[in-house]
Amino acid sequence: MSLHGQYDPDNIFAKILRGEIPCVKVYEDEHVLSFMDIYPQAPGHTLVVPREPVRNALEMTDGALQAAIVRVKRIAKAVNTALKPDGIVITQFNGAPAGQTIFHVHFHIIPRMDGEALGRHGGGEADMDVLKEQAARIAAAIENP
Ligand code: 5GP
Repeated sequence: MSLHGQYDPDNIFAKILRGEIPCVKVYEDEHVLSFMDIYPQAPGHTLVVPREPVRNALEMTDGALQAAIVRVKRIAKAVNTALKPDGIVITQFNGAPAGQTIFHVHFHIIPRMDGEALGRHGGGEADMDVLKEQAARIAAAIENP
C-alpha cells in the first residue's frame, strides 16, 4: 500500500490495540501501546503503537505524534537500561515502498550489538518465553516522566 489509501480498522495492530489479538506487552497508557515484535530483527525489538487510528506518521495529529515520540524515547531508554545494547535503532516506515507492512502507524526500537548483523525485516518468529522475559525487564526499567 502506498501512502495513498484508506485506514483499515481490521489491520493487525488495530486488533492488538482492541485486545482481539494477544501481544507481549511492555507499556501502555492513553496514547500508546508498546509490545515485543514477534519477528524480531534483533533480540529486544520493541514496537510502540500510537492509539490514533491512522496509517502513518504523516497522518498523525501533532499532539498524538508528540505524545508518541516522547514515549518512544522513554521506552528506548528502558531498552538501553534493561538490555545494555551497544546501539539502538529507532525507525518508522511510511508506505510499502518504504518498508511498511502493517498499515497502522508504529515505531520500531531495535537494540544493536557490535559486530552483529541486523536480522531480516519480518524474519523468524521469536520464542514467546524469551519475549516475555525481555518485556518484563524493559517494563521494569521504564522511568516515570
Ligand atoms: P512495518 O514493516 O510495518 O514497519 O513493521 C511491522 C512489524 O510488525 C514487523 O517488524 C513485524 O515483525 C511485526 N509484526 C507482524 N505481525 C505481528 C504480530 O502479529 N504481532 C507482533 N507483535 N508483531 C508483528
